Amino acid sequence: MSNTLQAIRGMNDILPEQTPVWQFVEDTLRAVLAAYGYREIRMPVVEKTELFKRSIGEVTDIVEKEMYTFTDRNGDSLTLRPEGTASCVRACIQHGLINNQVQRLWYTGPMFRHERPQKGRYRQFYQVGVEVFGLEGPDIDAELLIMTARLWKRLGLRDLVLQLNSLGTVEARAAFKGALVEYLQAHFEQLDADSQRRLETNPLRILDSKNPDVQALLGDAPRLSDYIDEDSKAHFDALLALLDAAGVDYEINPRLVRGLDYYGRTVFEWVTDQLGAQGTVCAGGRYDALVDYLGGKATPAVGFAMGLERLIALLENQQAVFPDSAPHLYLVAMGDTAQREGLLMAERLRDALPWLRIQTHCGGGSFKSQFKKADRSGARYALVIGEDEVARGEAGIKPLRDRGEQQSVAFTDLAGYFAETLSDNTTRRVSDGR
Ligand code: ATP
Ligand code: MG
Repeated sequence: MSNTLQAIRGMNDILPEQTPVWQFVEDTLRAVLAAYGYREIRMPVVEKTELFKRSIGEVTDIVEKEMYTFTDRNGDSLTLRPEGTASCVRACIQHGLINNQVQRLWYTGPMFRHERPQKGRYRQFYQVGVEVFGLEGPDIDAELLIMTARLWKRLGLRDLVLQLNSLGTVEARAAFKGALVEYLQAHFEQLDADSQRRLETNPLRILDSKNPDVQALLGDAPRLSDYIDEDSKAHFDALLALLDAAGVDYEINPRLVRGLDYYGRTVFEWVTDQLGAQGTVCAGGRYDALVDYLGGKATPAVGFAMGLERLIALLENQQAVFPDSAPHLYLVAMGDTAQREGLLMAERLRDALPWLRIQTHCGGGSFKSQFKKADRSGARYALVIGEDEVARGEAGIKPLRDRGEQQSVAFTDLAGYFAETLSDNTTRRVSDGR
């Protein structure tokens, strides 16, 4: 074993038995996003390091210690993207997508962060990100959240709680930050080392601390909601009213922050208590200042990113049902003539029923060993032909998943037979791994 190469720690292979549930999540996401008129954009996985330093900020966990940064052969500093928003904004500015236009965009792909690997936290992980440019009202914030709620429903997920907060404008937050720092400095000794460091670098992130002592201290700290400007408050109230009207439940969490200066107004997270410490499945908010900050014309923006590994772990926890992608039929053929006939028959069936999944046995072997493989494939039926069947122009159909006799059906009737007995929308549970 010591000589065999292994994947890098925190970077996972997604094996064939796992990909059907990934495809289910991706297909469902695509369908829901299309239902709201969102269009896909694809960006490179590598960007200039500068982009992330500028957009995410030098004093965030990501830039301070999580980026995969390297110098390429030209001597340029490049970074494997730790998230997608920066690249998306860069691409939109570069291609003029947001000059006086509204864009509703989404992307998916791997992101890279050098974190301590644990359940729900990896060094390569997949996100689906959604970004909207050119809309500043609460209606689009509501749309994003309503769309996400619909996604959970389509995926069959339960028990995700929406937490919401408003950060106000940059000025309102700056005033709050001053008051918070003053309060925390007076209680400096009670802060843990991490929070003491953040007090210097990024004090708002202290609100996010998981340390119960720090949280207790924050109980008496100044409250962001007391500093929120009137416009932001009205924006937030209008968002809440839309969510109420749409029947999307939420909790207001006054401690919810994003540690980046360009975030403002709405911030949100969808969280679950079913995934241990890594319970945030989807996180986002409004970042009206970023486009300007990265050199584009000032454009309001709002978006979110969700972690697909966490979503899938939750689907597994909740025994969700998803489409079965195992073959419908496994073709068992004995002898040269039957094998050739079988191959052509499978082609004719695929012509007639484009949704049908047939796996053809290759490599010969006894009936017994072929049936074993048929069984292992997860197929519903074995389609059986030997020399006798070819002579009679009939195939045997043997149920593999339930009891039932083998039947004979004429070659010419097979397509009609399967059109009636099979469909393309069978399902299975995430837990019946194959
Ligand atoms: P956390 O507080 O869990 O570190 P974050 O604030 O760093 O999350 P974001 O940058 O907002 O996360 O990313 C959005 C989502 O991407 C997260 O809510 C989570 O679902 C997922 N995610 C982030 N980092 C990882 C990771 N290392 N492994 C797996 N999923 C991740
Ligand atoms: Mg993180």
